Amino acid sequence: MNTTTSYVGRFAPSPTGPLHFGSLLAAAASYLQARSNAGRWLVRIEDIDPPRAQAGATALILKALEIYGFEWDGEVTYQSANRDRHLAVVEELIHRKLAYRCGCSRRDLAEVPAGPLGKVYPGNCRDGTDAREYAIRVLTDNRQLDFVDVLQGRQAQRLESESGDFVILRRDGLIAYNLAVVIDDADQGISEVVRGIDLLDSTPRHIYLQQLLNFDTPDYFHIPVAENRLGQKLSKLTGAPGLPLAEPRPQLLAALRSLGQATPAELANSSIADIWRFAISQWNPQVLAGLRSLPCDADTLAAPENGLS
Ligand code: GLU
Repeated sequence: MNTTTSYVGRFAPSPTGPLHFGSLLAAAASYLQARSNAGRWLVRIEDIDPPRAQAGATALILKALEIYGFEWDGEVTYQSANRDRHLAVVEELIHRKLAYRCGCSRRDLAEVPAGPLGKVYPGNCRDGTDAREYAIRVLTDNRQLDFVDVLQGRQAQRLESESGDFVILRRDGLIAYNLAVVIDDADQGISEVVRGIDLLDSTPRHIYLQQLLNFDTPDYFHIPVAENRLGQKLSKLTGAPGLPLAEPRPQLLAALRSLGQATPAELANSSIADIWRFAISQWNPQVLAGLRSLPCDADTLAAPENGLS
């Protein structure tokens, strides 16, 4: 590790299934950014949503990262281990009157029209609720929140009218991702968040929480998402297969190509470590600037082995 730099990056997968090609792109981009900035690169398993977790997924994800040649710094961390800290922050926000109980059920909100970013909570419970079961929402305001994404440029959102007061503690008692990610990124000193563009619209909520909590705002670097030939984001939902574990090189090279990086023919016979050395030395993220989606080769979608056997 180079101690003269303060760059700290991370990859933060949720254990909802094995890594697929889309997650490889996010992992690779964040790794390349960290290593080409002589920074640290952390792995955090975002395991705070047991209903969505798949048994064995964490082990498979870590195995795949290892086989694909990722070398993380320090121990892998688990978001679930930080629950007391997350709950303390919820309490703090309630105490400061910046968060409140919301007793609205899904049915109560069924009629709320969806805007471009989804349903905007109309604030029904801002003045209180008697409901025995409730979520906790954070109170938003309507000033314009601006930030400049390293790849996607200037972004602006008015939270109150575009996203609404959002949930930080779910009705089922689970911490919401939007809060956990902000706390853990701050606690781990993450200086730049590299992740898929599907989270770009959630970022103003993260920045808002950072401001309320007096945390530094990291740089944000949202990479385009990989799409299949139907134009659907590669994900477990769209049936993206797990990465093959027996021979990682073809998929790793395909990932670098999808990220717009050169992969000279001789790399096909290089070791994984040499592929990474080359990719880090040549990393040019500017080719991704302003792109929202990336094509990927058909054969990356038809991996013969899904790593679940
Ligand atoms: N855990 C999230 C996911 O797997 C990523 C969160 C993030 O990078 O901020 O989609």
